[in-house]
Amino acid sequence: MAEAVKEIPKPLPEITSVTKPFWDAAAEGKLRMQKCAACGAWVWCPRPQCGECGSEKLVWTELSGRGEVFAFTVIREVVGRALRGFEKDIPYVTAWIDLEEGPRICSNIVGCPIEQVKIGLPLQVLFEDAGRGIFLPKFKPR
Ligand SMILES: [Zn+2]
Repeated sequence: MAEAVKEIPKPLPEITSVTKPFWDAAAEGKLRMQKCAACGAWVWCPRPQCGECGSEKLVWTELSGRGEVFAFTVIREVVGRALRGFEKDIPYVTAWIDLEEGPRICSNIVGCPIEQVKIGLPLQVLFEDAGRGIFLPKFKPR
C-alpha cells in the first residue's frame, strides 16, 4: 500500500517579543528595523542590544524598502525533508540585498524571470502573505 504524500509546509519565523515590532510593521506593508540611538548603527536581525556598541537604546525605524542586489543564488533543488515545502517554488532566487539606508538583508527576489536578476538590480520590497498573520518581506525589480 502506497504511503500518502504528506504536504510539508514551509517553515515560518518564530515571533518573539524582540522581533514582534518587525512583524507588526510587515503586516502593515512597512519595512522597519532597529537603529541604535547611541551610535547610529542599523541592527539586523532584531536583537535586544546593538551589535556595534552594546547599547540597548534601539529605535524601530521605517526604511524606504528600496535597495539593490548585492549577491544572489538560484535555488534549483531542495535538499532535506525540512525544506520540501519550497519544492513548488523551484527555481527561485535568494539574495543579499543592500538597502538604500545601508543595512543588508537576505530575502527572495520575485516578480521577474530569474534570468533578469543581476548584481545591482534595483529592487523594492513587497510583503507576501505566508499565513497565520505573517507577512514575509520579499523584493521585486523597480
Ligand atoms: Zn550602537
